[in-house]
Amino acid sequence: MISVDDYRATVTALLGTAAPTIRPLAECAGLVLSADVPAGVSLPPFDNSAMDGYAVRSVDVVEATAERAVELPVAEDIPAGRTDVPVLLPGTAHRIMTGAPLPTGADSVVMVEHTDGGTERVRIHAPATPGQHVRRTGEDVAQGTVALAKGSVLGPAQLGLAAAVGLDRLTVHAPPRVLVVSTGSELVTPPDELRPGQIYESNSVMLAAAIRALGCPVEIVRSVADDVPQFRAAIEPRLAETDLVVTSGGVSAGAYEVVKDALTGAGVTFAKVAMQPGGPQGCGRWHGVPVVTLPGNPVSVLVSFEAFLRPALLAALGYAETDRRQARARLTESLRSPAGRRQFRRGFYWQAEGQVTGEVGPRGGPGSHLLAAFTQANCLIVLPEEVTEAAAGAEVSVLLL
Ligand code: AMP
Ligand code: MG
Repeated sequence: MISVDDYRATVTALLGTAAPTIRPLAECAGLVLSADVPAGVSLPPFDNSAMDGYAVRSVDVVEATAERAVELPVAEDIPAGRTDVPVLLPGTAHRIMTGAPLPTGADSVVMVEHTDGGTERVRIHAPATPGQHVRRTGEDVAQGTVALAKGSVLGPAQLGLAAAVGLDRLTVHAPPRVLVVSTGSELVTPPDELRPGQIYESNSVMLAAAIRALGCPVEIVRSVADDVPQFRAAIEPRLAETDLVVTSGGVSAGAYEVVKDALTGAGVTFAKVAMQPGGPQGCGRWHGVPVVTLPGNPVSVLVSFEAFLRPALLAALGYAETDRRQARARLTESLRSPAGRRQFRRGFYWQAEGQVTGEVGPRGGPGSHLLAAFTQANCLIVLPEEVTEAAAGAEVSVLLL
């Protein structure tokens, strides 16, 4: 048996790091920068007003108070978008709007609320200090510096900043195109009705959702019969447009293990991983394309995704952090775990206000077919290889989903 950590490292190495690609901003959400982004312009690009009000020389209004207003002639009107920069003469004011360029000679802005709002002459009721309500060139980002560092995950703020420095495309790690394949002659999909011995296919739906949530495009082969020629025929023609194949089912110790039968000796190695659920696993390259073969039980599929596939895909996407957040929590009831295997149990974690350690209650038994319990879980309880029993009240690690 191979350890969970070693197998995770194997799958991560198999997927590697995705090559850089240039994408329009609108297609970059959730992806990771593969190169630094230099600021081609400063932010703000010019000194501008932070308020609607009047640009002044602060020395001209230093004495202004509510009782003794200072009155100045309004020499210019400067809306946002004015592209010439007027000169403010001593003893005058310019009406100015938020985001409009500060006139040369002005060193501060008096907000309109501290004036009578005049357009010919303005009465100013409050003093100004130098720099007041002025946004300085480059105070957010200086031209030529790194606006976004390589490795940044492109969320709304990062994409906004890229747009603000004038970019419309970015160099990111290309998300792998994933082909998800469900195997099993028992699998059917609506609108077909179940006949005795058949079940509705669900693994591809789960895997596609989990993988798409990481930003990878997914194609699905909803169900392939347990027949090697049919399996090959369903997948081989699609390999040219695929960066990763993820299969479920057909890898354990029985007969009719179609994935094992088709891929053994073709570049894929099958192994038992020291975990529960999800022991039987396989990975390798088929016609040069990385393949990860998961077992068939739905809970095993999702646990395998969490244990290997998610971290490996995140690493491929360029994420530095590939682990789920972990917490320590006290078990609400006792659990048993097989010796020598890391057990992942579905759990519900919560932390009462003021408490340092959270609590976690298992959801469902260890059976890897118990999918309904997973829908009530918000974490995986991790029982290490050496643990065979964890008592109620014992502290355990949980992976927060
Ligand atoms: P296998 O690993 O192919 O022996 O499958 C193990 C169990 O998972 C069997 O009970 C299968 O019917 C079930 N199973 C396999 N694939 C799927 C699927 N795509 N959707 C739902 N259940 C599945
Ligand atoms: Mg099967």
